[in-house]
Amino acid sequence: MTQKKSTLHASFELDVSLDFLFESVEHGVLIENTNREVEFMNQFFCDTFNIKFSPAYLYLSNTLINSKKFSSQFEKFEEFEKSLYEIPKNIEIVRDEKWTLTNGTKVLRDYIPIFKVNELKGHIWVFKIERLCPKKFLTENPTELIENALHLLPGEIAIFNTEAKILFANQAYISNNEKRLWAIGKTVVQYFSYENLSNEIALNRLENIKKTIEQKLPFSWEETNVKAKQNNEYFLRTCYPVIKSNGELESVIEQSINITQQKYLERQLNLQIEQFFTTLNSLNDIVLLTDGELKLQFINKSWENITGHKLEEFKGKSVFDILAVTRYELYGKIFAILSGEYSEKKGMLAIKQKDGNEKHLQYNLQPSFSVDDSKKGILATLTDITHQHLQESKLLELVKREKELNELKTAFVNMVSHELRTPLTVISSSAEILDLMIQSGSSYDEVTVFTKQIIDEVEKMTAFMQDLLMVSKIEAGKIEINTKETDIILFVEKLINSSYNPWKDGRKVELSTKRTSKLADVDEKMLTHALQNLLQNALKYSVGKDNPKVRICFSQTYFTISVLDNGIGIPEQDMMNLFTSFFRATNTGNISGTGIGLIVTKYFTEQHKGYVAAKSIMNKGSIFTLRLPYHH
Ligand code: ADP
Repeated sequence: MTQKKSTLHASFELDVSLDFLFESVEHGVLIENTNREVEFMNQFFCDTFNIKFSPAYLYLSNTLINSKKFSSQFEKFEEFEKSLYEIPKNIEIVRDEKWTLTNGTKVLRDYIPIFKVNELKGHIWVFKIERLCPKKFLTENPTELIENALHLLPGEIAIFNTEAKILFANQAYISNNEKRLWAIGKTVVQYFSYENLSNEIALNRLENIKKTIEQKLPFSWEETNVKAKQNNEYFLRTCYPVIKSNGELESVIEQSINITQQKYLERQLNLQIEQFFTTLNSLNDIVLLTDGELKLQFINKSWENITGHKLEEFKGKSVFDILAVTRYELYGKIFAILSGEYSEKKGMLAIKQKDGNEKHLQYNLQPSFSVDDSKKGILATLTDITHQHLQESKLLELVKREKELNELKTAFVNMVSHELRTPLTVISSSAEILDLMIQSGSSYDEVTVFTKQIIDEVEKMTAFMQDLLMVSKIEAGKIEINTKETDIILFVEKLINSSYNPWKDGRKVELSTKRTSKLADVDEKMLTHALQNLLQNALKYSVGKDNPKVRICFSQTYFTISVLDNGIGIPEQDMMNLFTSFFRATNTGNISGTGIGLIVTKYFTEQHKGYVAAKSIMNKGSIFTLRLPYHH
């Protein structure tokens, strides 16, 4: 077939514009030459008569033969075919001839002969679908206009009288004209049985129509059209009452909308949502979603697993009830997101489990949007990092201990080397002097000064070694308490008088007590060690000052022994480190010491279920108090 090129149009010398015009009108246009061959046909013509191929294929084909091919489309085809022969013979314009197609469409046909300088050149046929001619409708019966309009609507529409009988059904409701006419005055049940359709559906429809008649209220219901081989179809049907101005019911209009598409989409969406939630619930992380007011909208199952709280406990609560935290950092991040910051925010928080234990969670916050994009909420994921957190703190603790041990080792080595070097220097120089004195024949009295010095230093070293040994025994838990009933004042008096009255610088330790003595169960060896350390310190750190004092007080369930001095005191910042191994305050200067004594005192006091306390003011003095129960 050649490219469509209308010779007829060429002779009009308006070729292009006519083509365009005919293509753009919403009427079927057919132009024939005098041989009754197709010169032009627009797409609308093909659509009207259900011609499946393009108009170009029919170029120069015979119109009269063509028309036979769609004879079944006309209700009165014979009459129509006759008119195709007759009308062109008259060579006169004919307008608005009514023809009805078998699918119910009403068309109006125009015929226009084409002349060029009195010579017939061809014929124009125009087929107008009635709905495209509102002007025409208006001139006719308005009921027909409405009826036609109702026929053109895509949904099923029917009107029932007050006895639920069909007054009108549109083409979508009953497509066949004859059947439609037959159905007038019948009920839906009668029509359905005539058509051999589902009685159940018909009865349901009738019931709803009757309900609308009785109650004068609209009723909606869903109807499923079950199809054997295809997918079911779904319809939303509604009955509306038509009420007259006097309040009486005039009729009922039943209308149906095909909601199959929505139904499938809805089902697909529900399925996807279900899958989405199943996936969320199978995650190890907690996922929670809030609305714009931070009210909880969703939280997954992991919440129960991680916290032990039931999900129902938090229905309608806010995100802060859930996270139960007073973390301004988290507040800040949430409000930053709500006020329009879109970047995700991370951080850590701790929450309490139902059993009171703590869980450490890493959170990740993002904005979440509602369908209309307007309302922002929070989408949070929380990962349980309790295990890592624990490992991390254990590791940090280990590192800290390691550091402390290293510091302790350094302090110990420094102290030991210092404590041993001094007596060793004294011993070595005394030995050298002794050597010279013996060579020069010095007397026994002259020599003994130096032998005594050697003995003193060896004693000091021995005492020091014993102290060290004691600490190692204490640390190994090898010292066991062995108590006996003891008169406390007598015991303390004896201790003071044996070693400290007087001390080597001539000072004494003064004992004061207001009450009569009491008996207590004590391990005398341990208590002796504990007190000796305090008394020696009191004397050692207050050289040149008043006598140190010991005070004993008895109360109902415990007694206290305090040792007071007016010595150098302890700097405030050092107080927290007292009672730790080898610790010596920064103001000890040349005063010798090992940093062991107070540890021993503390340990022995605690063995008696008591404790030791210290108070001190720099350059004013110190008080060390042992508080012990009578029995333990
Ligand atoms: P040291 O052998 O160094 O005296 P201790 O364990 O007995 O060891 O005491 C630890 C530190 O506590 C001392 O080095 C000292 O700095 C401080 N200290 C203890 N008692 C007194 C006190 N009465 N006056 C001032 N400082 C004291």
